[in-house]
Amino acid sequence: AARWSLKGATALVTGGTRGIGRAIVEELAEFGASVHTCSRNESELAASLKEWESKDFAVTGSVCDLSSRDQSTDLMAKVCSVFDGKLNILINNAGTNIRKPTVEYSAEDYSKIMSTNLDSVYHLCQLVHPLMKESGWGSIVFISSVGGLVSLGTGSIYAATKGAINQITKSLACEWAKDNIRSNAIAPWYIKTSLVEHLLDNKEFHDSVIARTPLQRVGEPEEVASLAVYLCLPAASYITGQVISVDGGMTVNGFS
Ligand code: NDP
Repeated sequence: AARWSLKGATALVTGGTRGIGRAIVEELAEFGASVHTCSRNESELAASLKEWESKDFAVTGSVCDLSSRDQSTDLMAKVCSVFDGKLNILINNAGTNIRKPTVEYSAEDYSKIMSTNLDSVYHLCQLVHPLMKESGWGSIVFISSVGGLVSLGTGSIYAATKGAINQITKSLACEWAKDNIRSNAIAPWYIKTSLVEHLLDNKEFHDSVIARTPLQRVGEPEEVASLAVYLCLPAASYITGQVISVDGGMTVNGFS
C-alpha cells in the first residue's frame, strides 16, 4: 500500500558507508526511495556505491567532511542537482565521539565533537528546508542517543550535542509543521558499529551494558534503520516532535 512505500521519495543520509547510516541507506532504498549519502573516506564510499549498484538500489554519494561548513554547503548543492531541487527526507546520522573525563577535554576535542554532531546537523536542516518545501513534504530524522536523555559514560560533550538535537527536533516540528515537514529523533543505546566496537570488545564493559539492558543484548544497525524508515513513511504522518529510544528497554529499567 502507498502508506507503506517511499516510492518516488528522495533522501539524504549522512554517514551512510558504515553502521547505522549504512543500514538506513539500504532500508530506504528497499522501500523505493532514491538516496544520496556521504562520508569522508573516498574508497569506502566508492566500494559501498558499487555494492548498492549491484543490488539495484538507487543510491548516489559524495565525499564530504560534515565538520566543514563549506563542504556541507557543497554537499547540499550536489543533492540539489541530483534530485532536481527537491528533497523529502533528511537523516542526520553522522556523528562522532571522544570519551574523556570533562576536565581533560581540549578545545580541539570540544570543537571536533560540536562541529560534527551539532553544527553540521543544524546547518543541514537550514539548507534542506527550501528543498523540502519545494517537494511538498518532508521528514527529518535525527540520530540522537540515549546519552542525550540520561547521564551515561559517553562523555559530557557528546551528551550535550545529543541533548541539543533532541530539543532541535521539537523546535523544528513546531516551526515547520506548516510546511508539511515532520521532525523526529531516535535515541539508540549500544548498537554494534565501528563507533563502539572497541568498547564492546572489552568483555567487562560489554557485560556491564548487557546487565542494564532488559533485552540482554546490544542492538543491530537494522533495528535502528527500521524506525528511521518508519518515521519517513506516510504511515507515520501524525508523528512529529518525538524522541524515541531504541534501547532494549535500558532507559525504563529501574532498580530491581
Ligand atoms: P560509525 O562510526 O560506525 O559510522 C559513522 C558514519 O558516519 C560512517 O559512514 C562515517 O564515514 C561517517 N562520518 C563520520 N564522521 C563524518 C564526517 N565528519 N563527515 C561525513 N561523514 C562522517 O557510527 P554509528 O553508525 O555507530 O553512528 C551513527 C550515529 O548513531 C551517530 O550520530 C552516533 O552518535 C549515533 N549513535 C550510535 C550508537 C552506537 O552504539 N553505535 C548509540 C547511540 C547513538 P567516514 O568515517 O568515512 O567519514
